[in-house]
Order: sequence, then C-alpha cells, then structure tokens
Amino acid sequence: MVQWRRVFAIIAVKALKAVRSVESVAELLAARSEMSGSVGFVPTMGALHAGHMSLIRQAHEENDQVIVSIFVNPTQFLPGEDFERYPRKEQADRLLCKSAGCDLLFLPPIEAIYGADEPVVKAPAVSGYILEGHERPGHFDGVLTVVLKLLGLTRPTRAYFGKKDAQQLILIRQMADRFFLPTEIIAAETLRQKDGLALSSRNEYLSDTQRTEALKISQSLFEASRLIKQGRSESAAIEAAMRQVLAPLAIDYVAITDRALRPIDAIVKGESLILVAARVGGVRLIDNMWV
Ligand code: AMP
Repeated sequence: MVQWRRVFAIIAVKALKAVRSVESVAELLAARSEMSGSVGFVPTMGALHAGHMSLIRQAHEENDQVIVSIFVNPTQFLPGEDFERYPRKEQADRLLCKSAGCDLLFLPPIEAIYGADEPVVKAPAVSGYILEGHERPGHFDGVLTVVLKLLGLTRPTRAYFGKKDAQQLILIRQMADRFFLPTEIIAAETLRQKDGLALSSRNEYLSDTQRTEALKISQSLFEASRLIKQGRSESAAIEAAMRQVLAPLAIDYVAITDRALRPIDAIVKGESLILVAARVGGVRLIDNMWV
C-alpha cells in the first residue's frame, strides 16, 4: 500500500524553500529581495507546536509571503540553562512550517548570526531586569540582539510574537518603536491545551505527574479571572488567591502590572497584565493573562 503520509511529507519538504548553510545569510537576503508584496515573519527556536503554528497561520493570512526562522539563540540562555538540551526537531518542524503556510524557512548556523567583538542590544535597565529579567539577568539582551538581527535580515512588513512571552513582546515592541524600525509588531494570542496548559516547547521536559502539577499555573490565572469577573480588582487579594492555587510549586514570581510592566495596586480592565513564573521539578514555566 502506498504510504500517502510519507509521500505527502516528502513533497511538502521539497516544496518548502529552506536556507540553512553557512552562506544562509546571503541566500536569505537573495530570496528576500525576490519577494514582492507584504512579508510576515515568525521567529522561533523550533520544536514547533500548535502555538507556533497559529502564529505562522496568522502571518500567512495577513501577508503575501511568510518567512519563519528556527534558531536556538545561544545568547538568550544563561550559563547552566538548557541551551544544549533544548529540543531540536528539524524534520518535523519543516513539515509543520509548510503546512501552516510558510514560504521560506531560515535555519542559520550560529556562526552565520554571530561574530566576534560586535555590537549588542542592551535591554532597558528597569523593564529588562525585572520578572524574567530578574530571574535570568541578560536574557533580554540576547533576545533583543537576535531579534534586531533577524528583523534586519528579513525586513518584514509584520513580525509575529506570542503574548505567552509577554515581557519579551513588550520589550520587542518598545525596541521597534524606539529604534524606529519599519516593521509592525503583531501580538498573537496564547494557545492552550484543552485543560488550560499553555503550549510551550519546554512542556516536553515534563513527566505525566509534573504535567498535572504544571496545570496549577494556568489554574491560578483562571482563579484570578474568576475573581475579576466577580468584581474584585485589588492586586494584593488577587495575588494571594493565585499563590494559594500555586502553593505546591516553587513560585518565582506572581506579578500584577500595567502593560508597561509597572506594578499596580488594582486591576484596570483592558490595561493590566498578570504574570506567573514557577518551577515544576527542574522545569521553569511562565504564563500570563492580559486582563
Ligand atoms: P519560541 O520558539 O519559544 O521562541 O517561540 C516562538 C514564538 O512563539 C514566540 O513569539 C512565542 O511567544 C510564541 N509562542 C510560544 N508559545 C506559544 C503559545 N502557546 N501560543 C502562542 N504563541 C506561542
């Protein structure tokens, strides 16, 4: 019997243009210069899941062409973090990219992106060093540097980032604004599994038991949402209720802020953000809710 799934997979991989060699930067620039119309760009670190796919699909719907990058960026990992063991799944990723509407896949090796003794972007001294930046100092310097490089290479009309990484999205928006970049930064909704767990490449590290424990993270946000619907708005009360739900986990932070990440005493609908980070076993997970 013909294995249609395999046949389809081969056709799909062949049809997707992928640049991945050491010369990939030159190849990408050449391919980009042949593109006409609007270009949507989705930067990722691979191990693609449905959350990434929804960004690529949105980019496909809103633009004439779509570029996706897969680059596990070493400069955003701190020493001792999971850079080495971060999941890498190039073959599966290629298929998923193609099926979601990607036209050009950019998979640069590290040496195509980074050289010795070169400029870097510094994250803002306050908003880049609180929350995630406090737990992972220097992380956002690495994120902003690689995003600026990738935006320079792909010159997209629109670039898509998930609300799941709220602080990252806010800092990238600010960089695009304050460095006067021509790209529009689009915020994409967080995709969750049916039971509420936000999709993340790091969920792969979780055992079944840990996955069940990890549900407390989204449940704490749903508890906050329930209280807000009941008319509660005081940050202290909402945070306390969330901490009760999260209690069995090692909590890194629960924060209630405005959309510029400044702490607030009370939620204002349409203007607030609730952020959580916690560790389940050795796995650090983040989630948030845009209230
Ligand atoms: P990453 O590969 O983790 O760097 O993620 C690439 C992009 O996908 C980032 O803009 C993330 O915010 C976004 N993303 C990650 N998880 C989700 C999710 N569950 N729903 C929507 N977007 C996501």
